[in-house]
Formats: sequence, structure tokens, C-alpha cells
Amino acid sequence: MALNGQHIIVIGGGIGGLAAALAFRQRGASVTVLEQAEAVTEVGAGLQISPNGFAVIRALELDAALAQNSVRARAVVLRDYRKPGEVLRLDLARFAADQHFRFVHRADLITILANAARDAGVQIRLLQKVASVEAGPEPVVRLCSGADKRADLVIGADGLHSKAREALNEPDSPVFTGQVAWRAIVPNDPGLPAEAQVFMGPGRHMVCYPLRGGSVVNIVAAQERAEWATESWSHRDDPKNLRRAFSEFDGTARALLERVEDVALWGLFRHPVAETWHKGRVAILGDAAHPTLPFLAQGANMALEDAWVLADCLDGAETTGAGLSAYQARRRDRVVRAIKAANGNAWKYHLSIPPVRGAAHLALKLGGRLAPKRMLGQFDWLYRHDVTRG
Ligand SMILES: Cc1cc2nc3c(=O)[nH]c(=O)nc-3n(C[C@H](O)[C@H](O)[C@H](O)COP(=O)(O)OP(=O)(O)OC[C@H]3O[C@@H](n4cnc5c(N)ncnc54)[C@H](O)[C@@H]3O)c2cc1C
Repeated sequence: MALNGQHIIVIGGGIGGLAAALAFRQRGASVTVLEQAEAVTEVGAGLQISPNGFAVIRALELDAALAQNSVRARAVVLRDYRKPGEVLRLDLARFAADQHFRFVHRADLITILANAARDAGVQIRLLQKVASVEAGPEPVVRLCSGADKRADLVIGADGLHSKAREALNEPDSPVFTGQVAWRAIVPNDPGLPAEAQVFMGPGRHMVCYPLRGGSVVNIVAAQERAEWATESWSHRDDPKNLRRAFSEFDGTARALLERVEDVALWGLFRHPVAETWHKGRVAILGDAAHPTLPFLAQGANMALEDAWVLADCLDGAETTGAGLSAYQARRRDRVVRAIKAANGNAWKYHLSIPPVRGAAHLALKLGGRLAPKRMLGQFDWLYRHDVTRG
């Protein structure tokens, strides 16, 4: 089934939806994106695009635009929350020089994707909140305004609280992980270089990296706690709560926290990966199919990979059904593995018992000195995988 001439509705103008819209359009489909927001604005904060996500950006011919609007990461540095010096330095510039790890503001990546999609002829319709989706051979998208929209194919890229996922699956039952995360952007007063800094404390950690030419720093601060917080990208919190939670952090971490004026808080939930990714002529991708915890920074990268693979599978398939089945088969195991790895990462940073912390940090330090390449190589399955090469 060539995509040429097909009319496709994509629900959600986030990273995955816009990437899919562009990939479909580049293969000749006529594409409409329905986005609930009133504008593509400055929502969100920093994202990390790893080499596997960058491969998709390159295949979409947006690598130059992304390079211009992002910071290339030169290292990942792990630090103890109180002691000066480094626990571990993973030198990306030296040991992964051929790979692109990039820090980008979510709004900048959205703008790059949206501009490219519009230039290619994708219709992006704002203020189009979808109420429900009817899956089947002739899918219907029902808007909150009451209007119905029809297309040859409907793609749900509508994120965490996806209406399209509901049409294909039993209701999801997310489980609170006992962790929350704050995110904020502050001026880069300490002059942080192009590195991801991870400050590790008992039961909490902070990841900081520069954005926008190094002028600002993105902070994600995660804490284990019993008190539940809502699962939303737009829930604001008082910066004092963040500073209180990280009051024992010293040095650069403390200096950055002092500058926080505006902060969002989100509760971290585990969602099962959707059983069914497609039915009739409806499919889901990105967070709609498999929300992930932020500890491996793969949410946006997995959505980009999904978008590319979906377009690729549909374009080469005999029927829509065969294309959608091939898509789920190509994606599911990889996504499950990435989510499992993200779930496993938090506790490594959060070790609470001092001797255990000390021993773990020493092991990391030695590993980093003796076998830096091997430490980076353990993630080759993730970062060196290029979905655009088949
Ligand atoms: C406002 C916002 C801010 C974010 N900020 C960050 C961040 O700072 N750091 C980070 O790592 N990740 C952030 N994320 C999440 C990150 O972008 C995703 O995890 C990842 O990019 C996967 O992308 P996605 O396309 O599957 O989903 P998303 O990027 O979440 O996109 C989903 C899109 O669908 C739209 N949508 C949802 N429901 C409907 C509906 N019923 N009708 C029409 N449209 C709908 C949403 O408005 C959104 O544009 C943010 C997401 C959002 C929505």
C-alpha cells in the first residue's frame, strides 16, 4: 500500500505526531494534524536527543536545523551531592565522537518539526481537541466541538492521556512509582559546559544540562517520596518546595536551585506498554502507546523512532493491516527493553545507605577510569540502533 494519495489524520502535534506527519507527507500522503493546544508555544523544557533519535532527524533532513538550535553534549558527569570532584566522567567527545547526543528545548524541536511539516504541505489545525476515536475500517475522530473527522488512516500521537489508545485497549492502570520530578530552566550563571551533570544524593538526584547556546540550564530533579503528585506537564509548584527537597545539595547544584523562579512538578507513573497498537485503520505511537520514565531520556527518541518505522512499514506493505502489524512487530520489543532500562536507572542514582553509596561510587569511578569504552558500550543496543536503515 503506497502512502501516495492516502488521507491521514494525526492526532497530536507533539514530537511523535509531527515527525510522523512529515514522514507520511514525504511519502506522498495528504496529512492533517489535529492539535488541542491553541499554539505551538514555549511549553516544556529540555529534551535529550540521543544518536538513535538523531538518526531519524537526519533521515527527515532536519539535522542541520537541529544542530543549529541545540547543544552537542561532550560528556556525562556523575557527582556526589556533597563532595567536590567527579564520581564518573563519560567522555562522549572522545569515546563516542561519531555519535550525536544533543540537548534541545522541546519548543525549539517542535518549531523545527512544525515548520518542516507545514513547508511540506501538512495541514496543522490548532484548537482541535479530540474527544474519542472509533477504530475500524472507516475510522471516525470525534472532536470535543461535536464535529466528526474521517480519513483513510488515523494515527494517535496524543501522548500520555491518549484517546486513541482508549479506542484500542482496555483502560490503562498506571502505578505511582513513589517518585516525583521537578523541572525548571535557570540562567547559566555557573557557566556549565556542554555536559550533562548528574548530582546523586540519597533518595534523590538532579540532572542539569545547558540549552540554547549555553545561555540557560535545564534542571530535572527527581525525589523518592510517598506523597503523590499529578501526572501532568503543566502542574506548577512553589520553587521553595524544590529547594527544601534538595537542601542538602552543595556547590553548583545549590547555586542552580537558588535561581529557580518557575518550576513544574510531575508525578512519575509506570504505565504498561499498550497491548494493541493498531486496529482497523487506527494506530498509536510514542507516549500514547508506551509512556516511559525520564531516567534514560528516551521518551522523545522512542516517539521519533516509532514515527519513522510506522511510515516505512506502511509505505512498503501490501495492505494497511499488514503495514500496521509490521510496525508493531518492529517496535514493541525494543520499546519494552528501553522502558525496562529506564525503570532500572533511578535506584542507581538514589542509593541511601552510606557504605553502599560509597562502594557503588568507587566501582563507578574505577570502571570509568579502567574501561570507559565498555561503560559507554553497554548502551550500544540503544544508541547505535538506526531505525532508518531497515
Ligand atoms: C506540554 C508538554 C511539555 C513537555 N515537556 C517535556 C519536557 O520538558 N521534557 C521531557 O523530557 N518531556 C516533555 N514532554 C514529553 C515529551 O515531549 C514526550 O514524552 C515525548 O516527546 C513523546 O512524544 P509524543 O509525541 O508521544 O507525545 P507528546 O510530546 O506529549 O505530544 C502529544 C501531543 O498531543 C496533544 N494532545 C493530547 N491529547 C489530545 C487530544 N485529546 N486532542 C488533540 N491533541 C491532543 C498534546 O497537546 C501534545 O501536543 C512534554 C510533553 C508535553 C505535552
